[in-house]
Amino acid sequence: MKEPWSLYVHIPFCKTRCSYCDFVTSAEAGDRIPRYLRALEREIEFTARSLVPRDPVHSVYFGGGTPSILTQDQIESVLNTIRANFRLSGSPEITLEANPGDLGADQAERLNEIGVNRLSLGVQSGHDGELWRMGRRHTVADTVQAVSAARAAGFKNISFDLIFGYPGQSQKDWRESLEFALSLAPDHLSLYALSIEDGTALERAVAAGNAVAPSGDELADRYEFALDFLRDAGWNHYEISNWSRTAESESRHNKQYWRQGPYLGFGVAAHGYAYHSRSANIADLDAYLNAVDSCDARFFPPFPAAAETSMQPSQEEMRDEMIFGLRMLREGVDLARFEKRHGIKAESHFHSFIEKHSAGGRVTLSADRKLRLNPRYAFISNQIFIDLV
Ligand code: SF4
Repeated sequence: MKEPWSLYVHIPFCKTRCSYCDFVTSAEAGDRIPRYLRALEREIEFTARSLVPRDPVHSVYFGGGTPSILTQDQIESVLNTIRANFRLSGSPEITLEANPGDLGADQAERLNEIGVNRLSLGVQSGHDGELWRMGRRHTVADTVQAVSAARAAGFKNISFDLIFGYPGQSQKDWRESLEFALSLAPDHLSLYALSIEDGTALERAVAAGNAVAPSGDELADRYEFALDFLRDAGWNHYEISNWSRTAESESRHNKQYWRQGPYLGFGVAAHGYAYHSRSANIADLDAYLNAVDSCDARFFPPFPAAAETSMQPSQEEMRDEMIFGLRMLREGVDLARFEKRHGIKAESHFHSFIEKHSAGGRVTLSADRKLRLNPRYAFISNQIFIDLV
């Protein structure tokens, strides 16, 4: 069975830390970026020498952190290492996450020139006050300018991330953020419900009574609003948190995860999944650098920075394929593909799940064997997926 591959590259540096963020990222990059990039390229080379994908790579994703704080020459160098070590498909999707404040005309042109063809902008809100409360270092004007620079440079695929439910956000604010986003005509939108994570500035503010966490009902209302708003605007709601202008602008890279296709992750805390095996890289930056630097190149260590690799039991693989597949609202889980991959009919294996949730109108099974989640239940999908665990 032919399966294209995907590569994820983690850039764990940001200029400042946002108030809600608990990602593996460092706001004190100092002079560690060049050393990190050397380690990253070494990890890419080692991995490619021992683990050769059968099929070409059709997506590369620079995520973070804030990959746009790298210079374009640095990004090009990592991309060249990838090109020298992996076979890329004819027209790979190459995405870079960017802070709108980092994207001027020169940067956008250079990124386009070196082969980046999709930008994922951390827009987050259409209100400066909200951006300030979030601890973002960009403004609404930066977003307008970044989109204009990216379009002028030739980018045809631009995605926005937006957050809903930030303390102090009213329904009107949320509607205005969505209107602001659509006024800039992006090709893709990812909408994330705020989640208050341990150890963040926001968690401390909530604990001290300086901010009020959104209730579950408020978050559900915001989501429902977006559902109707974007449907009326003609958007394609293809995954629980993702909408695209057309079927062609769905994120190829993210669909790789939801379809449980093979991918490799490079960099600190990056994850991979290939040949029934999951891997997770060391999550501490210094430990990651030391592990890759001290690897003996003569032995081509396949996962030089892995904290853990493990074969995934087939029961878990099948369960994950159902859970991640159901997230794709348009495509759903292709049960014919499932049968080819696992040698088992999902209709029999997950009979009670399909029967219970079909009867309740929460999932539908079509004549061509596609199992889909009803979008009206998308926001509470975890309560449905619990029956698969
Ligand atoms: S830019 Fe992203 S990764 Fe960096 S601190 Fe903000 S939310 Fe976290």
